[in-house]
Amino acid sequence: LQTEVPHVIGIDLGGYHVSAAVVNPEGHLIGISERTVERFRPPAEVLAILVSAAREALERSGLGHEAIRGIGVGLPGTLRPTEGLCLFSTILNWQDVQIRDPIQEALGLPTCILNNVHATAVGELSFGAGKDVDNFACVSIGTGIGGGVIIGGEIYRGDSDSAGEVGHITVDPDGPECVCGNQGCLEALTAGPAIARMAAESLKLGAQSLLTDMAAQSQPIRAEHVFRAAREGDALAIKIWEKVGRYLGLGIATLITLVNPRRVILGGRVSQAFEFFGPSLKEEVRRRARVVPRDFTEILPSPLGARASLLGSAATALAEARCREVATVPKTV
Ligand SMILES: [Zn+2]
Repeated sequence: LQTEVPHVIGIDLGGYHVSAAVVNPEGHLIGISERTVERFRPPAEVLAILVSAAREALERSGLGHEAIRGIGVGLPGTLRPTEGLCLFSTILNWQDVQIRDPIQEALGLPTCILNNVHATAVGELSFGAGKDVDNFACVSIGTGIGGGVIIGGEIYRGDSDSAGEVGHITVDPDGPECVCGNQGCLEALTAGPAIARMAAESLKLGAQSLLTDMAAQSQPIRAEHVFRAAREGDALAIKIWEKVGRYLGLGIATLITLVNPRRVILGGRVSQAFEFFGPSLKEEVRRRARVVPRDFTEILPSPLGARASLLGSAATALAEARCREVATVPKTV
């Protein structure tokens, strides 16, 4: 019997989108399907879109159903992966939703689920900037901030599957309120909406900036405008990114002090502006993380970008498929 190359379907579900792709063991995407999802739709509706995206990805890959060994789904929220349950997700507005079983039934393939931030870390570990290191951390900066910590080559989940939430480290005790109920969290000061708020506040105070015109054309102003303005050399935008870098440096210095990772890999849309916030981030880390050797930890943007979560879900499905195969093949001498 010829050993076939195992493929899986990786799926990344977010608040606004679902991406599905057939993935081979080298982490190449073969056949991709992207769908938008209307915010806060009922679980059954979202799962139906997800299933149809997976079918489309398979069709586009040109492979048959028999070539696929399993499905991995990454999604935001607190999950119970062994039971296939989403206990709670503020981004999806779900509570106690069975995810795994309906997907498994609809597609006829073994399915596993994992938190999307953990999936991102596993993606970097399997195919990205974490491939050659045992200890690293991922920080994903977008609408919110997520984190994942890999220790000894494995994701560290914590006692209740919620380890690595670097976005909710307090960096300013009197700072703005955070969605988690605390105030001054890293997320409340450096995620996309916080960057937009900083820009809007500076403009209100009468700052001269390219952002004034951008704000006039497109209300409300967003973090990507601040990125664009910085690329055009706008002084206010550059100053905002420096401030963002300093706050990120505070949070990441704490992470480095606690975990001593070899690398910190930054993902999410906001990390596209690394050239503008990276220098002040690194300077702050040097100033704050004093017990880890200076400049020991490399801080770099993710080479996988937005695909890290999908690839990590696929890698998890591949690993589970291998475990099943080892378990069913009788051992030979
Ligand atoms: Zn928070």
